[in-house]
Amino acid sequence: MDKTRFVLLFTDKHTMDGLMMIIRSMALLLLSLLPLNVTVALPQSNMTELHIGSSTINVHFESSFTSQQKQKLLKWLGATANTMTTLYGEFPVKQSNIHIYTSSRTSEPVPWGEVWKNGEYKINFHVNPNFSQQDFLDDWTAPHEFSHLFHPYPGRGNSWFGEGLASYYQNILRSRYGSMTEQLAFQKLYNGFQRGIKNQKRTGLTLKQASAAMRKNRSFMHVYWGGAAYFLNVDVRLHQSSHGKQSLDNTWLKFKECCLGADRYWPLHRLIPKLDELSNSSIFSDEYNRIIDGRTFPDYQSSFEQLGISVRDNKIILSKTGEAQALRHALAKQKN
Ligand SMILES: [Zn+2]
Repeated sequence: MDKTRFVLLFTDKHTMDGLMMIIRSMALLLLSLLPLNVTVALPQSNMTELHIGSSTINVHFESSFTSQQKQKLLKWLGATANTMTTLYGEFPVKQSNIHIYTSSRTSEPVPWGEVWKNGEYKINFHVNPNFSQQDFLDDWTAPHEFSHLFHPYPGRGNSWFGEGLASYYQNILRSRYGSMTEQLAFQKLYNGFQRGIKNQKRTGLTLKQASAAMRKNRSFMHVYWGGAAYFLNVDVRLHQSSHGKQSLDNTWLKFKECCLGADRYWPLHRLIPKLDELSNSSIFSDEYNRIIDGRTFPDYQSSFEQLGISVRDNKIILSKTGEAQALRHALAKQKN
């Protein structure tokens, strides 16, 4: 049975022995990009609704914030929620709750984020409201957490799946939305892959082993970016093999229509075949079998090649012509 009540928690800043594992986003997001179809109620009270298309996000301010701070935080959440609509045209869930707390940590605007799916969708953000509007809009945490709303819980020990999807989309979707350039989005993927490679070399683990004991082995970078490489490879192959008819995006849309729910659990051994079925392919399984037990970081170079991405001195170079550029644009070009 898939329909099982459970509590799911994704946390994305990992406290270990007092140390925070932090990846900072340095993307630029123009303030003028506040989505036009976001309705923001005046933040007089501690609860405000954000309307993204036909979806409602209830934003709860669990600490005392000034009216100005609330405006800033709502603008950040509204822009990020709208970024998510570049995946398949709508926010993934109809109803969700965001709880915002102040954090005493001063190093970044969003030191902590986590997603709960326990019959309802709930996201907690711990924020330092003294950071600027732009700092919030540049931060990776919210697009990452929101990306977790697209996929179901794949079971204990399979963190690479959800974290990989979120790490992939947190960059790709911001490129589509125009809040970072295509160049920067792929540079961030590349940088993540390098962190993953370094991490994998230190542990020598397979992706499956790294996921099974991510905290114990401190395999976060291997798990997050190894998973992102998987989804990049899947996306490229889906586009190529179907001449653009299939993609990671439309597979998730089909999954939403049949199978997504805050109380639905999809063990990975059933989820991957389901995604194959929905994409009319065996690509999810093929790529899984190709990378999951490998003793090296998942190969991403052939996908980069297909996308016309080369690397020199750790800087990516994008080809400006041909099929490779067209394929890359299909994945990440800004959608107006
Ligand atoms: Zn995550």
